[in-house]
Amino acid sequence: MPELPEVETIANGVNARVRGRRITAVWTSSKPQTFKSPETEIASTLTGSRIESVRRVGKTIVMTIRLEPTLRSAKDGPPRTAEFLIHLGMTGRLLVCTPEMPVAPHTHAVLTLDDAREVRFVDPRRFGRLSIHHTDAAEESAGTITKSGRQQKFAGYAGPGSEPLAISLDDFVALFHNRRTPIKAALLNQSLLHGVGNIYADEALFRAGIRPTRQAARISHEELKKLRAALVAVLKQAIKLGGSSVSDYVDADGVRGFFQLRHKVYQRTGEPCRACRTPIKRMTLAGRGTHFCPTCQK
Ligand SMILES: [Zn+2]
Repeated sequence: MPELPEVETIANGVNARVRGRRITAVWTSSKPQTFKSPETEIASTLTGSRIESVRRVGKTIVMTIRLEPTLRSAKDGPPRTAEFLIHLGMTGRLLVCTPEMPVAPHTHAVLTLDDAREVRFVDPRRFGRLSIHHTDAAEESAGTITKSGRQQKFAGYAGPGSEPLAISLDDFVALFHNRRTPIKAALLNQSLLHGVGNIYADEALFRAGIRPTRQAARISHEELKKLRAALVAVLKQAIKLGGSSVSDYVDADGVRGFFQLRHKVYQRTGEPCRACRTPIKRMTLAGRGTHFCPTCQK
């Protein structure tokens, strides 16, 4: 499953390729699982609109579009922009290609652009989701929205949790206050931090020296400071790595495995810790395979 850095890589790659283009036609596959908004709504909203930007929010790709004037109704100042949300699920891919490129099996949506190129959503296992999010006009004019009384970085769709690359230390520490679950489970809880998956949770906990089973509420301020820094560092490192291979995901029609960091603990069960040579242990926590060094992580 693509994690935050992979989704960011794809969103940035698609943004660089389609920003500013107009969508002239939309085709959808009629496979009901894929569409969280009615297909007719997706097609009617996107057709004729212009793509303003493509970005990542959590593990969702958000395509902001400016609606055609004909689609705006005159009364009540309706939204001038909308957002097309693309969640890749387990196997979803978003490709930008020329029309000659054969359409892959399991293609569920094709947006035709005004330069004849196409944005295609391909998803064999159909855990991916496509939907339209209507941006509130007031939100848009303010430029920011408030959530829990705090200013959020993003206008429009903000997802359920906080953004791990943007959250302040105080807000990060507050997430775990009074939380009795193991820290690993708290890191995976998408309503707290969105976009952190199994790999980066294990890798960040190793780098911070924190045992995944520790109760979140009992982790010291100093340790949480280290954990936030470790999480940001592993995510940024992976995003940087993805930047060099973006073309493999966005341009090509082949199926490629996602890039991976050189893991320190993830899926290295029984192998020596890169810091102390103790064999890496594996356990199941919150239903997920969890990897840690019993010596380095306290
Ligand atoms: Zn170790």
